[in-house]
Amino acid sequence: MIVLDSHCDSPSQMVRLRDFRRDNDHAQVDFPKLKAGGVDASFFALFTPNRLAPAEAHAYALRLLDELDRQVWENGDLVAFAHSAEEVEINKQKGLISILIGMENGSPLMGSVAEMEAFWKRGVRYITLCHNGDNDICDSCAGEGRWGGLSPFGRELVAAMNRQGMLIDIAHAADATVRDCLEYSEAPIISTHSCCRALASHRRNLPDELIRGIAEKGGVVQVNFYPVFLSDEFARVLADSGLEERMDAEDRFIANPADPAARAAWNEVQDALIALPRPGVREIADHIDHVVRIAGIDAVGIGTDFDGIEVPPSGLETVARLPLLFGELRSRGYDEAAIAKIAGGNFLRVLRKVQEKRC
Ligand SMILES: [Zn+2]
Repeated sequence: MIVLDSHCDSPSQMVRLRDFRRDNDHAQVDFPKLKAGGVDASFFALFTPNRLAPAEAHAYALRLLDELDRQVWENGDLVAFAHSAEEVEINKQKGLISILIGMENGSPLMGSVAEMEAFWKRGVRYITLCHNGDNDICDSCAGEGRWGGLSPFGRELVAAMNRQGMLIDIAHAADATVRDCLEYSEAPIISTHSCCRALASHRRNLPDELIRGIAEKGGVVQVNFYPVFLSDEFARVLADSGLEERMDAEDRFIANPADPAARAAWNEVQDALIALPRPGVREIADHIDHVVRIAGIDAVGIGTDFDGIEVPPSGLETVARLPLLFGELRSRGYDEAAIAKIAGGNFLRVLRKVQEKRC
C-alpha cells in the first residue's frame, strides 16, 4: 500500500524557517513525522494568499519553490522529488519519501498558459484553481461570483492543463466553478482537500451532487482534516472561544519568523486552540464513509491540509499519527484493499490517468 497525502502547506512553513530534517515542536509536518506516520508520498503546496497581486504571487511562489528545492535536495537521504506515480514507487523502493509539488491558487500564473507550462517544468503537478477569493481563473466558494464559474481564461487554462497532464484541483472553488470544470475538462478532476457538506455545512465542503459528479468523471475527493470543515459543532466552539481574535498572532509570526517572541505568541494561541474539544479520527472516518456511500470506494482519499490549518483534529495532531485513521477504518469493516485505495491508491490512479492523456 502507498500512503499519499494530497495536500499540506509545508513550503509556507519552510519560509518561516522550519528545518524539516528535525522533529519540530508545534509542527504538524516535518520529515521525521512523515516517516513515523508511514507516509510514502506527500504533495507540498505552493500556497499564495489572495491579497497578493498576480505578479507578487508569482514571485512568492518561486520563493517557496526555491526553499522547497533546497530542503529536499539537502535531505536526499530521507526524501526525493516525484512527478508521477511511477517515481513514487521507485522512491519507495529506495526507502525515500516522495515529495510532489502542488500549487494552491492559480494567481501566480498571471493569466498565462505559458506560466502553467513553466511551473510544470519546475515540477508542479496540480493546480488548485483558486483560494479564498475569486481570481482571474474562476470563482471561489468564498468569493462574490465574479464569473459565474470559470472565467474565459479559466476555460482556456482547463484545456491547456488537460493537454499538459496537469491535475485540476477544485478545492476552494465555488460550486459553479466545479460544475464548469466537470463540463469542460476532458480529464478527471480532483479535490485535494475537501469534506462533505452533507455532514458539515461549511461552504468549503462539497455537496453530494458534486462529489458524485467528480466520481463519475473518474476523479477523487481527498478528505480534509480541518476541524472547522469536519464539524459544525466545532465551528461554533471556535467562534465562542474568542480565540479567532487572537489569530493575528500568526500574521505577526509570518512577518517575523526569526523573532522568538512572535513565534512564542503564536505557539501560545495554538496551544489554546488544541485545548478546545475537537472532532478527530472518528469524524474524519465519517466523511470518508459518506463519500464511499454516495460515490463509491474509488472516489475517496486523504488530503490532510496540515501546516495550513491552525488547529488539528483530536488524536491526529500531526501526520505522525496517521496510522490511527487506518485503524479506525479497519474497525469499521474496511478490508486492506479498500484501505489501500483510500490511503493513496485512488489518487495515484487519477494521477496516472491524467498524465497518460498528455498529448
Ligand atoms: Zn486550502
